Amino acid sequence: SLMVAFALGALADLWADFMRASGAAERVFELIDRVPAIPASGGERLAAVQGRVEFQEVRFAYPTRRDVPVLKGIHLALAPGEVVAIVGPSGAGKSTLAALLARMYDPQEGRVLLDGRELSTLDTEWLRQQVGTVAQEPMLFATSIADNIRYGRKDATDAEVEAAARTANAHEFISRFPEGYHTMVGERGVQLSGGQKQRIAIARAVLKDPRLLVLDEATSALDAESEHLVKEALERLMRGRTTLIIAHRLSTVMGANRVVVMEAGQVVQSGDHSTLMGQEGLYRRLVERQFVAA
Ligand code: ADP
Ligand code: MG
Repeated sequence: SLMVAFALGALADLWADFMRASGAAERVFELIDRVPAIPASGGERLAAVQGRVEFQEVRFAYPTRRDVPVLKGIHLALAPGEVVAIVGPSGAGKSTLAALLARMYDPQEGRVLLDGRELSTLDTEWLRQQVGTVAQEPMLFATSIADNIRYGRKDATDAEVEAAARTANAHEFISRFPEGYHTMVGERGVQLSGGQKQRIAIARAVLKDPRLLVLDEATSALDAESEHLVKEALERLMRGRTTLIIAHRLSTVMGANRVVVMEAGQVVQSGDHSTLMGQEGLYRRLVERQFVAA
């Protein structure tokens, strides 16, 4: 079912986290902690989604560390179709905020709303169909490229998979493999570059066609060609969808309707790039460092 598919996605993300952190025993507990304690189904399924998102005075601490507040009263509204870039130093709570939007966790205080409905009143399986994510280091399964893309929507035809790949600027590199879409990825298949993996993940999201997007931009530098192709693909993907993008590049921030600066679990600045550059504050310092800290 879709819930199983989602759980697999979550596990894949966990696995990626785990691989990054291999060796650190502490992280193992974080992994366990990240397995969501949210019921899969029950609740309302909205007939049509406008895509308005609101965080109202959201306070949150992870279940295993209730004494460490991670979000300390976040107030943030996204209009339907709006693209909001979140920037801030590592540990500020950016990914946590994104996780709450996909209802990986519930806040301890405050509310997260979609079209005025509190997420906890909505069917979780349904909600997660409305949210597309492109992770920082997208996880690919050890199967064909086509099936990796089709993971976005299980019943997609080959033609739909290819159309999604074209939108994601992935078709060209896929076609260059002798086996094309049947090429296996992973340990026994081809090794894809970071930019290629990102484009596969974007193709997945294109196929899923959700109203809401959560994008965690890659921090590691892509080669110049990949960077351009990924950026263009993301722009196509975001069009008309409410998007929360955790941004690490200035060019991404410039394309957003609004920039929200987070620090230590709070929103410390909000506005467009030029307004924020005109202010004394964290944003200007981040731009001077080109966001590399995040
Ligand atoms: P950012 O994405 O801005 O770097 P995160 O949202 O990942 O920040 O993390 C915010 C804070 O929450 C950090 O102090 C981090 O160590 C902590 N944190 C993140 N994930 C977990 C977890 N699963 N369990 C406990 N603490 C966590
Ligand atoms: Mg993060």
